[in-house]
Amino acid sequence: NIRPLVAGNWKMNGLRDSLAEIKAICEGVEEPHFERIDTLICPPATLVYVATALAENCALHIGGQDCHSQESGAFTGDVSAAMLADCLASYCIVGHSERRTLHGEDDLTVRAKAEAAIAAGLTAIICIGETEDERRAGKTLDVLRSQLSGSVPETATAANTVIAYEPVWAIGTGLTPTTEDIAAAHAFMRQALTMRLADEAQAMRLLYGGSVKPGNAGELMAIENVDGALVGGASLKAEDFLAICEAY
Ligand code: 13P
Repeated sequence: NIRPLVAGNWKMNGLRDSLAEIKAICEGVEEPHFERIDTLICPPATLVYVATALAENCALHIGGQDCHSQESGAFTGDVSAAMLADCLASYCIVGHSERRTLHGEDDLTVRAKAEAAIAAGLTAIICIGETEDERRAGKTLDVLRSQLSGSVPETATAANTVIAYEPVWAIGTGLTPTTEDIAAAHAFMRQALTMRLADEAQAMRLLYGGSVKPGNAGELMAIENVDGALVGGASLKAEDFLAICEAY
């Protein structure tokens, strides 16, 4: 029995006035029926410290959206996993398609970041997913196989690693794969991870991400091997995020 995770990725959205949403989510997730799930918001790095302070006495976890693979050093503009942990974050997203595409991050980089996150005591949320062209060419599962083997470190366990399947073409577009396609992708990921990580893979959380909204969350979260969601746009408003959590 895997404990589901509903995670929000705010991307480069949110200023100090958005902390009201963090507060509202904190209040919302204290409802007894949310005891069965974990909830997480990953705000921009500038808000992580104050967000963890706000969420200190509630069940909501706070995480980073990216980290550097080194603990410290001459890397202007970067934030290390140790720094996020120092701000009391408990998760860090790595390898989001926007990092892979816009910052040229490859699997090797993503794996190093995941290792850094784990070493700092954070849970790494490793993102993978095919582009529209790759899907059209029938290469979806090949892409997932190579991203999993390239990006997931040997040290990955069910406790320190979460995998998020985010088809690139489904991000911010309102499009989602069919139920059958998501089921096939998640079953494939479970199987591929089991070959490497054995029992750990059986308990590892596999999230779906890409245009998750209150209106489709119930259907998406009911798919076998979907152990939660990674939500972009619909995580910016407490009302929408909590409605997605209600899908459980
Ligand atoms: P949307 O939910 O806005 O499609 O974004 C998904 C995403 O990229 C989450 O990491």
